[in-house]
Amino acid sequence: MCLEESPLSQGARRRRGGVASERRGPRFARQTVGRQRAALACSRIYNPAMPELPEVETTRRGLEPHLHGRRIHGVILRRPDLRWPIPAEIERELPGQRIAAIRRRAKYLLLDTEAGSALLHLGMSGSLRVLPGDTPARAHDHVDISLEDGRLLRFNDPRRFGCLLWQPPGQTHELLRGLGPEPLDDTFDGDYLFARSRGRSAPVKTFLMDQRIVVGVGNIYAAESLFMAGISPLREAGKVSRERYQRLADAVKTILGHAIARGGTTLRDFISPDGAPGYFEQELSVYGREGQACPRCGRTLRHASIGQRASVWCGHCQR
Ligand code: ZN
Repeated sequence: MCLEESPLSQGARRRRGGVASERRGPRFARQTVGRQRAALACSRIYNPAMPELPEVETTRRGLEPHLHGRRIHGVILRRPDLRWPIPAEIERELPGQRIAAIRRRAKYLLLDTEAGSALLHLGMSGSLRVLPGDTPARAHDHVDISLEDGRLLRFNDPRRFGCLLWQPPGQTHELLRGLGPEPLDDTFDGDYLFARSRGRSAPVKTFLMDQRIVVGVGNIYAAESLFMAGISPLREAGKVSRERYQRLADAVKTILGHAIARGGTTLRDFISPDGAPGYFEQELSVYGREGQACPRCGRTLRHASIGQRASVWCGHCQR
């Protein structure tokens, strides 16, 4: 089971209406965008409803120049909890501290200070913006972290699946323990996937989405990476060759890297009060395209639920 998803989104998703809620965003967007682009054929584009690793990394890059080295003036909490109660240390420890770094681990953001780190997750609908200090709060603006330069970091989250937690210095929060490597790190490669998969009978797609194996490869990116690598999502993880795992690791890096690069064009939104930061268009070859033609061979794409997640693939191009 997936360590990152279980506390933060999967369980909650089931409670509040199941997996369908995850698919609603892409599906609605697809209808609109799909009509506009019907003649353009192979790759559909949509705005994801939920921040995935590329959106979180784009958020980090967008915030970094505004937060790095700044001193925190104060903290305003407009409610005591998000997904979980906001610990007292956030209000007690952060004021007066200088932000030494803003880091990402999986889909979490960490604001590091000498007193400890604020640990943030955007959940399904969260966003962060840097705004002038006198910007009026709107609905769902739950947290302000004001800076000595007069601006503030504002956390908005309509659905409140996000979180703001505390990590004492020198410790690793339990949510971050046991996570696999970052997909863009050099330690994530074909040899690593090959070694970790031996003896495993789970489908390779389920294996790839396991946060203990590698973090941040969600349903969309798993489907697209497997298509690019030509591997069937149903293939037993333990029976994929080293060579094919190298192709898969390369595909994961290419697709996530491309998504992050596209997100770079939205960075200006982080300091715009009207912008919706961090979410950007994503080209898709197979995800959400069940029953349509494979963009490579033209045969009808197959679909099934694998590990309780909607999956689409080409039975001809993916073996
Ligand atoms: Zn095909």
